[in-house]
Amino acid sequence: MDSVGVAAAAPDAGPGPAWQSKCPWGAPSTTSISCSLADVMSEQLAKELQLEEENAAFPEVVAAAEGPFITGENIDTSSDLMLAQMLQMEFDREYDAQLRREEKKINGDSKVSISFENYRKVHPYDSDSSEDEVDWQDTRHDPYRADKPTTTPRRGFIGKGKDITTKHDEVVCGRKNTARMENFAPEFQVGDGIGMDLKLSNQVFNALKQHAYSEERRSARLHEKKEHSTAEKAVDPKTRLLLYKMVNSGMLETITGCISTGKESVVFHAYGGKSATEDKVIPPECAIKVFKTTLNEFKNRDKYIKDDYRFKDRFSKLNPRKIIRMWAEKEMHNLTRMQNAGIPCPQVVILKKHVLVMSFIGQDQVPAPKLKDVTLSNEDMKKAYYQILNMMQQLYRECNLVHADLSEYNMLWHDGKVWLIDVSQSVEPTHPHGLEFLFRDCRNVSQFFQKGGVAEALNERELFNAVSGLNITADNEVDFQAEIEALEKMNENHVQNHGKKLSTFSSDGDPPIYDE
Ligand code: ADP
Ligand code: MN
Repeated sequence: MDSVGVAAAAPDAGPGPAWQSKCPWGAPSTTSISCSLADVMSEQLAKELQLEEENAAFPEVVAAAEGPFITGENIDTSSDLMLAQMLQMEFDREYDAQLRREEKKINGDSKVSISFENYRKVHPYDSDSSEDEVDWQDTRHDPYRADKPTTTPRRGFIGKGKDITTKHDEVVCGRKNTARMENFAPEFQVGDGIGMDLKLSNQVFNALKQHAYSEERRSARLHEKKEHSTAEKAVDPKTRLLLYKMVNSGMLETITGCISTGKESVVFHAYGGKSATEDKVIPPECAIKVFKTTLNEFKNRDKYIKDDYRFKDRFSKLNPRKIIRMWAEKEMHNLTRMQNAGIPCPQVVILKKHVLVMSFIGQDQVPAPKLKDVTLSNEDMKKAYYQILNMMQQLYRECNLVHADLSEYNMLWHDGKVWLIDVSQSVEPTHPHGLEFLFRDCRNVSQFFQKGGVAEALNERELFNAVSGLNITADNEVDFQAEIEALEKMNENHVQNHGKKLSTFSSDGDPPIYDE
């Protein structure tokens, strides 16, 4: 879907169906965000657009559905809708399984085979079921308990006197809705609910109808361009479900907009809600970092995590999807270490799979500017420099971490001080490339502040020594780097020989200190 193109229209789109107006992620009220919420809201938008189209295509059906049957608008059936959709998915899966059996039967051992793939209901990204979806099933009602189906007479009511039951009756209406599912497109499997006494509320029925319609269109779209990866966007249906749950549970009040879309992550702003547990306080404003589930971008970052002994054992056993979750996990652990050391950085709120919620650095939906985008007075510039020098030392000594992507792009200026962000790639100094990463960080910081007119700024080699406590004496970059690599090599050899890492480096001629 062209999420960017339709984004601007989203907040102005016409009124949605009744259940939508109740949803906490309904039409956003703010438009001040730099980037649209299309990714998150696209489902809503899609539904609105479909409703419009449907109104044109099937006027009588819609009129009937919106007629006297609408019961209380205050009933929030959003979770029923979810249930219905999950149920639908289940039917689709069964249908596909049957299709596969038939396909197998027809093809047998024949060298030439016929594929039924185009007739399948469940498309690639749906078919990868995860443990997360299980909890939907647990809350599912059992529709198989029903009595005999009851027919509704054409005249719209049954009974006499005060026992009269009209078509407005919820139960009657529910049954009618169930029967009307027969009118959905023939390919849309509605299961055998029609044959039993299943009562669908109007909201659920309407939403299901739209779902049927959208499934049809999606199916057609997918057949057209199957080669395009559906996981290209960070906010795929699974992510959206995770975000929905966060809003639904009340942990987040609203997700207002997207702050940043990078190659590896998308960051959203949200207003915090209430925590389920008393001891935890959700910050008033949160940043949600969604690690992209596109695998390509992460390939070149393997080196950060593959050699990190904390993750090494697990790395080889994991599939790419899980590896992406480890990035989020790593960011969480690293932020926690920094928080404990008192380094200004976002505070972790919660981690769910590849989605990390943290406190928002900024105010009223406006993120704090990056150091590269802010013009500081000479005094503030100098203050920022010394603060960063201090933070780099704390990071190295107290957190046992090297940022590994430190630059004016990952430092925010907020409340008169510098905040460090983006630490998913941070590693421990004894990582096989840890010191090289530190040297690169030092180069970025030195250059930024030297260019920014801070006369006191150390050069990259001095800064490296100041942070690491090492005493590498080479007076040129090439030799300096050679010494760094020699140290890393020494550590690697030690690991090879002793199966143990060095806890710290030393180049003072003292024996290295090992972890016992
Ligand atoms: P990336 O890997 O995409 O660079 P970052 O963690 O650097 O991911 O986040 C991207 C951008 O999102 C940042 O440059 C910053 O502008 C914004 N951002 C990220 N986290 C926060 C936060 N906690 N508070 C405010 N803005 C944030
Ligand atoms: Mn960044």
